[in-house]
Amino acid sequence: MQDSELYSRILGIAAPWRVERVELKLQQGEVHVYLGHEDKQDWPCAECGARCALYDHQAERQWRHLDTCQYRTILHASPPRSECAEHGVRVVKLPWAEANSRFTALMEGLAIAWLKHASQKAVAEQLGLSWDEIHGIMERAVERGLARRQAEKIPYLGVDEKAFRKGHKYLTLVNDLSRNRVLYVAEDREQRSLDGFWPTLTEEQRESVEAVAMDMWDPYVDSVREHVREADPKIVFDKFHIAKHLGEAVDRVRRREHKALKAEGDDRLTGTKYDWLRNPTNMEGEQRREFAQLKYSELKTARAWALKETAMAFFNYVYERPARKHFHWWYNWAVRSRLPPMKEVAAMLKRRFENIITYLRHQITNAASESLNAKIQWVKYTARGFRNKQNFINAIYFHCGDLDLAPSATK
Ligand SMILES: [Zn+2]
Repeated sequence: MQDSELYSRILGIAAPWRVERVELKLQQGEVHVYLGHEDKQDWPCAECGARCALYDHQAERQWRHLDTCQYRTILHASPPRSECAEHGVRVVKLPWAEANSRFTALMEGLAIAWLKHASQKAVAEQLGLSWDEIHGIMERAVERGLARRQAEKIPYLGVDEKAFRKGHKYLTLVNDLSRNRVLYVAEDREQRSLDGFWPTLTEEQRESVEAVAMDMWDPYVDSVREHVREADPKIVFDKFHIAKHLGEAVDRVRRREHKALKAEGDDRLTGTKYDWLRNPTNMEGEQRREFAQLKYSELKTARAWALKETAMAFFNYVYERPARKHFHWWYNWAVRSRLPPMKEVAAMLKRRFENIITYLRHQITNAASESLNAKIQWVKYTARGFRNKQNFINAIYFHCGDLDLAPSATK
């Protein structure tokens, strides 16, 4: 069998294309495959597929292919350009590569498959690609994936902020809570960060939004109010974010009290910081008994803790009326508690209450996407090679967007 025939089989090259010659560069460990085509005067337009007249040929280009027998394999060809009455002069579609890629579709497909499971560094080393090449492959994959997305209904959204590196740089993520995927990523956590999301939706999709879980963060509230019809009953403040605020208030009470007690030689609160924050049902034996002694004591911290636990019991209600009653009663207790941090958090929850009680109707939290968070953590962990935020954003879409990433030429 001739080299060229062998390589047209390996590469799956079919008419009108053919392998014209194969050059082995043993010393460099490379195989160069030169592709040509039949003498053909009309080619389909890359845009609309209409038969168009051949216009000219591009200068020779190269595509990196999968290695063959450990030889770095490079394709060469001069792609024809055809002239369409409607779309003008365009490079024709090539069966082995996507437009503007320096890799064959199989090579990109393999890199994408590996990148799903290994760090960029490992894939770069294994395939002999540079950071720029890896980022280019990921970027094109994400572009394809986003363009292929269908306009499905998105009833439950979660808007989440993520810290990016140290120094309080943030990203805003919009998650599809029903399908556990990231729909949108933007820089910062301003109103405009979230504003950019809405125009990516169709009118029907925007109408399909039933509820949005988020932190108590006004820029996000404002964005939803501006872009979603009858937004207020659809905004649900995340119950874990509320628990965090309550926990911080308890901790402030504890710190102050601990200081006062220590001054009198009482170290009951030493080393108890996390006991007050965790769920006591997760404690065992001795620890549980010790904590029971503390929580039933006359300490201010114990009172603050009871306030926190009682506030969170709100989320177990099914019906609005008793839930409102519960909150009202709790609020009065909190403001009379003589515990300033608890009074502050109570005032905040009261102010935000109408978007807290919406939880009972929609039952959504941002934690619905915990598995998604784990993935994002992994992306962050393997992010050391990201030179800028855009690479990081692309990586989030790549791994968490549930996108169809494969080059179309391999499908
Ligand atoms: Zn055309």
